[in-house]
Amino acid sequence: MLALVPTPIGNLEDISLRALRYLREAELILAEDTRVTKKLLAHYQIETTLWSYHAHNEHQTIPNLINLLQSGKKIVLVSDAGTPGISDPGFLIVREALNVGMEVECLPGACALVPAIVVSGFPCDKFFFEGFLPHKKGKQTRVKFLSSLPHTFVLYESPHRLVKTLKMLIDFCGAERPAAVIRELSKLHEEKHRDSLANLYAYFSQDKDNKVRGEMVIVVAANSDKKAAERWENNPNEADEETDGDE
Ligand code: SAM
Repeated sequence: MLALVPTPIGNLEDISLRALRYLREAELILAEDTRVTKKLLAHYQIETTLWSYHAHNEHQTIPNLINLLQSGKKIVLVSDAGTPGISDPGFLIVREALNVGMEVECLPGACALVPAIVVSGFPCDKFFFEGFLPHKKGKQTRVKFLSSLPHTFVLYESPHRLVKTLKMLIDFCGAERPAAVIRELSKLHEEKHRDSLANLYAYFSQDKDNKVRGEMVIVVAANSDKKAAERWENNPNEADEETDGDE
């Protein structure tokens, strides 16, 4: 059996009793970075064997892992933080395990996107999760598409790209579009900045106090233009079909 087990995104208390039991009872834990997972296991005095499983070895390791699953091994997959498969390795092994008829479970648990969108204060009855934008080619096309959405959208971003991404969001969504930058969720220096894109850009581009550090989620309010929303509802792929001078 394969189980995907979410792990804390900061605060080590954010792990369920069931997740701890799965980690303890597994015969093998696949970890994105074994050093990170070792610390978590040591904190909870869990001694299960760890193997490395990450974006650079998943293709090679999957056939052997599928054999192990078919021989009845209980395998748990974790990532460094949050839910495996969400902007982290996971999808490929889930797909292969399902293809050969194995049972796959994913425990409910920590994931940065859920607390970020809820605490942003923007409507979260429907939302669009983009994850990381492409680093180079295709970034503008994606942002243009996102700017037309009639729903709140959520981006994962690294600190060194935050300012550039806020600038691009201004270019396509407009300077006054409300947004939130949620930093360091569940950690000592958790911060939520809710403001217009222009003010967020002004704040984060003057990084005197190393504000642009740590882990962050950008949440952007929906396009409130009724016509844009109607266009989107009628043809959601329209914005994506055009390419316009991507980097
Ligand atoms: N699998 C994870 C999840 O379930 O959320 C996401 C992993 S992805 C590689 C890492 C990104 O998640 C970070 O760049 C950041 O955008 C977001 N993230 C992770 N932990 C965070 C935290 N404590 N506060 C804010 N954002 C966080």
